[in-house]
Amino acid sequence: MKIILLGAGAREHALYDKLTRDGATVFVVPGNAGIPNSHPEINPLDFVQLQAFAREKAAPLIVVGPEAPLAAGVVDFFAGSDIRVFGPGRAGATLESSKVWSKDFMRRHGVATAQAWPYRSDRMAEARAKAVELGGEVVIKYDGLAAGKGVYVCSSVAEAESALDELQSLHEGWFSFLLEEKLLGPEISIIAVTDGTAIRLLSTSQDHKQLLADDRGPNTGGMGAYCPVPFADGNVLAAIRRDIVDPTLRGLQTEQFDFKGFLYFGIMLTPGGPKLLEYNVRLGDPEAEVLLPALESSLLELIEATLNGTLNQTTVRQRPGAFVGVVLASGGYPAAKFPTGFPIAGLDKLPADTTVYFGGVKAGETGQIVTSGGRVLVAVGHGADLELATARAYAAAAQIDFQDKYVRPDIAQRPAPVLTQ
Ligand code: ATP
Repeated sequence: MKIILLGAGAREHALYDKLTRDGATVFVVPGNAGIPNSHPEINPLDFVQLQAFAREKAAPLIVVGPEAPLAAGVVDFFAGSDIRVFGPGRAGATLESSKVWSKDFMRRHGVATAQAWPYRSDRMAEARAKAVELGGEVVIKYDGLAAGKGVYVCSSVAEAESALDELQSLHEGWFSFLLEEKLLGPEISIIAVTDGTAIRLLSTSQDHKQLLADDRGPNTGGMGAYCPVPFADGNVLAAIRRDIVDPTLRGLQTEQFDFKGFLYFGIMLTPGGPKLLEYNVRLGDPEAEVLLPALESSLLELIEATLNGTLNQTTVRQRPGAFVGVVLASGGYPAAKFPTGFPIAGLDKLPADTTVYFGGVKAGETGQIVTSGGRVLVAVGHGADLELATARAYAAAAQIDFQDKYVRPDIAQRPAPVLTQ
């Protein structure tokens, strides 16, 4: 099977790796200098060019990594053609791209989630009053794709007011946002493959969004992840299925979404049970970098079953042990600007049971791989338990070197939470 894979980060490198192991020939668009068979000359958002490329390569399947091509309608563009796309159509992608719409979907279908109040920017005074009424313990969410920068978790009225001020100064014209009840509890990610009727969950995982140890510092795209999550036991998973996953599936069916792809549930385990924070309509990054090596089943077969409507006949098997991914970032990330272009050394002497996935890299003048982005690469360790997998991931991260390298030191080392439900 020949596949065109869209995307340019470490998540796509992990997808490339897995699909290749499953027996596919994978062309990555645009890819990066560290992912084999990358095609930077093709624009993943130029669907006419993409179609010509898929025909030239005789590839009947497109797998989408990031959200942008989905929100731009890549699935709708190829609908009815002989080239199939694994991912939701534009309507399904709204589950991620509009937080107001997605919250409404959760409500319509009884998905457990935080209480929320939608506002438009011309009702700012009402939103301020609501924030005061809630004592400033609110989460404010811009309604649109904001590259991880549209969410403000507030702990006081002053914080909520300055978040609303910032929203107003960042966005011109009318915009919508949600004011949400602030929940407390550990977070986990559940990523699944669904054809809109059947659903298959991958392992449970947890990411680390903040830059610094102990979940301090600015939010990033993610500094590391691990799977499986030890405290997400059978009871927790049963509650998540009952309160979140099953109502979501019923919603997709009721509203007749043609949803064939990855569906990501960002969940908080609150004292009142699991609550859904958000859907993403794609694999998380860096969760993919641990979930895909952990997947023993063929992803290619899961994708084909999804597209053929036979997902209900499949089972998902995981490899034993734990997987930990540690991001090697450029110093200065996640600021808007930081120095890059530094050669990356030490890639040839990686310890056993480790893998490296390339993200923000490009080919330097001499052909050597150099840094080009914030999250440069992800070092993944596998071991019988979390401790061993963590040690291996950090050993690999220590072997690899480039100027200004930054690695968050406590990935997969959060103390186990006490779950009250
Ligand atoms: P992502 O980068 O995962 O796509 P996002 O910017 O789209 O995130 P959310 O996942 O909705 O937004 O929120 C980001 C983070 O804010 C969550 O991971 C969680 O830590 C926090 N958060 C969101 N909603 C709530 C809530 N109701 N109560 C407490 N914290 C919340």
